[in-house]
Amino acid sequence: MADQGGQGVNGLRLGRALILIGPPGAGKGTQAKTIARRLGVPHISTGDMFRDLIGRGTPLGERARPYMDSGELVPDDVVLEMVQERISRDDCANGFILDGFPRTVPQAERFDEIVRKRHLLEPFVIHFVVDTKLLLRRLTGRRTCSVGGEIYNIYDHPPKVPGRCDNDGGELIQRPDDREEIISGRLSTYEARTEVLVDYYRRKGKVVDLDAMAPPTVVTGQLLRVLQGLGGQAQ
Ligand SMILES: [Zn+2]
Repeated sequence: MADQGGQGVNGLRLGRALILIGPPGAGKGTQAKTIARRLGVPHISTGDMFRDLIGRGTPLGERARPYMDSGELVPDDVVLEMVQERISRDDCANGFILDGFPRTVPQAERFDEIVRKRHLLEPFVIHFVVDTKLLLRRLTGRRTCSVGGEIYNIYDHPPKVPGRCDNDGGELIQRPDDREEIISGRLSTYEARTEVLVDYYRRKGKVVDLDAMAPPTVVTGQLLRVLQGLGGQAQ
């Protein structure tokens, strides 16, 4: 098959927003990066964007800061302004991957309007389905290298020497937000909020459910097959 100017998977032109919805720790961010590279489209993580804007002290960042600091949802107007600006850049012309947005049905509705104005295809949702018990174990087992930031898991991906990084011998620590009570809380908030959002897109026939508990390479394979199917759809 001819390579159409490096437009990603088998010449697939995404031409739309690909929205990744999944709980924290489902591997969504990793998959987003992989897929973005394969498709040659940007990976837009609203969390990263806010941290960047706050770090640079921009007016939008200052509006978002109190909400980010207290772990609350950033108001729709602020999020939408940021997303709208980001997707108007040239690198988004062939589509883009959204990670962390939309989070609510009102955000999704307003995003639909933006998409229509930009003449993009309808957004498509990849829903990362998880086994909550298994995910909890995966997350609470996570340890981060205090030197290089490498991530280990005491159950699934332990270091060779307990408590020490394989690469640089750095001490492995459990980040405060990886503790069980914090994670349980985050997961129930996520579930309560997300069900209606996924339903919103499901009613439009724009959702594919993915088994996010499978090994990362398997998940990537599933994702690529979904995307190839999308490439064959008229709309
Ligand atoms: Zn390390």
